[in-house]
Amino acid sequence: MLQDQEANAIQMERTFIAIKPDGVQRGLISEIIARFECKGFKLVAIKLVVPSKSFAQKHYHDLKERPFFNGLCNFLSSGPVLAMVWEGEGVIRYGRKLIGATDPSKSEPGTIRGDLAIVVGRNIIHGSDGPETAKDEISLWFKPEELSNYTSNQEKWVYGVN
Ligand code: GDP
Ligand code: MG
Repeated sequence: MLQDQEANAIQMERTFIAIKPDGVQRGLISEIIARFECKGFKLVAIKLVVPSKSFAQKHYHDLKERPFFNGLCNFLSSGPVLAMVWEGEGVIRYGRKLIGATDPSKSEPGTIRGDLAIVVGRNIIHGSDGPETAKDEISLWFKPEELSNYTSNQEKWVYGVN
């Protein structure tokens, strides 16, 4: 019975994660994917794309008043970005923990930015910051048919339910 209650309590959610052009160029794709995959989260979509400047402006629309907005959008559209959707219990919030603080000089060791980046303008990875942005960013970057709905064979081992 306890198992059934736990099964009912699992709240799967999805988040948008992107490896920015610096992470791709630095050969960090496998290292970053491994951190999400080894944690137990499930990959449901992935593609390598070079976003246009206007697409980058849409993605970062909430930062349009910031002084670094133009440079940020130029940078995001300067080369391939690895766009992904990851699924799991608490993945939106925990994904941000795996990523670490925005400024890598303040990110804890053990986080992606803490371990792999030095300056805020080249912090290698993006992750949605809440349920609303996750929904918006997933639909901005992916068509519904690009998301794979499948049961991972790992789920019973990761969550301890059948
Ligand atoms: P994030 O959600 O942790 O990525 O941080 P924000 O949403 O606040 O900012 C988006 C991105 O803008 C960050 O990941 C950085 O690449 C960049 N950024 C944020 N703050 C600064 C800043 O003060 N200077 C520069 N150059 N870039 C910044
Ligand atoms: Mg953000």
